[in-house]
Amino acid sequence: MAILKVARLGHPVLRTKAKPVPVSEITSPGVQRLIDDMFETMREYSGIGLAAPQVHVSSRIFVAGLRPSQAIQEMSDDHEMPFITLINPEITLVPGAPDEGWEGCLSIPDMRGLVPRAAEIRVRAHDRTGKRIEISAKGLPARVIQHENDHLDGILFFDRMLTLATLTFMDEYQRFWAKHDEDEEEKSHA
Ligand SMILES: [Zn+2]
Repeated sequence: MAILKVARLGHPVLRTKAKPVPVSEITSPGVQRLIDDMFETMREYSGIGLAAPQVHVSSRIFVAGLRPSQAIQEMSDDHEMPFITLINPEITLVPGAPDEGWEGCLSIPDMRGLVPRAAEIRVRAHDRTGKRIEISAKGLPARVIQHENDHLDGILFFDRMLTLATLTFMDEYQRFWAKHDEDEEEKSHA
């Protein structure tokens, strides 16, 4: 496994719509190695999610999560988001009032902003074995999945902010905005 270089804001790959992965290629050594390397890279940089375009691969793949778990069909717990690999995901937003929450991004280091997201989503995708899966997610897992899915379409969290008034550097976030929730740190970057 290897730690991959993360593309930063300004690199065109982050603004490119990623290509679907042919289902027959999901179990190929190249794609499997990419997924392993993405998990290792996410862990190295203390991220909670990482999309392939963030490591310069314009394919519709992302990894996310905080903990190993077999039960991924229903994700609602903010502290136990299971590790998932989603390939060619299709997201449906469940109608309802959006949630506002802080987001950061490994491709936009040291910054954070308040982003509205659908509070609940359903996702259809392939997992890393090529199997079709369906997931229902709320809370933090729903937010992370929407953030990562946006990367596959060349969309960054700035683009989703209603106003840039809450855009802040990390130091200033800690000084002026943080609610002294230590867990916030661990799950900040996607
Ligand atoms: Zn991101």
